[in-house]
Amino acid sequence: MECPHCHNKGNVLKRIFSKRKGYENRYCVHCNSEVKLIYNWKNIFLLITFVIIGLIIINFVIQAIGWPGISSGFAGGLGGSIIAVYMRKPPFLKIELISKSKTKRRK
Ligand SMILES: [Zn+2]
Repeated sequence: MECPHCHNKGNVLKRIFSKRKGYENRYCVHCNSEVKLIYNWKNIFLLITFVIIGLIIINFVIQAIGWPGISSGFAGGLGGSIIAVYMRKPPFLKIELISKSKTKRRK
């Protein structure tokens, strides 16, 4: 995720956009710009499908070489974390700048 206004980047541990109570949109923690996160669910759905197919193929290959294969819990965790990382990147997520930081935070 990158702020479209000040171009600061967040990471997995630190979210760059914070949600405020009572507001639907999010705000950049650096420049206070209001942004809207638009998830492209069609692309995300395709991503999920590919990840599931990928995990099935990996499991197939592992079992084919005589290993016990990956457990469904491990596969779910792996697939879930891949999806969680990628769905926050383009083309899965579009960050729209709604308003620049016109209001300076006063006390
Ligand atoms: Zn910003």
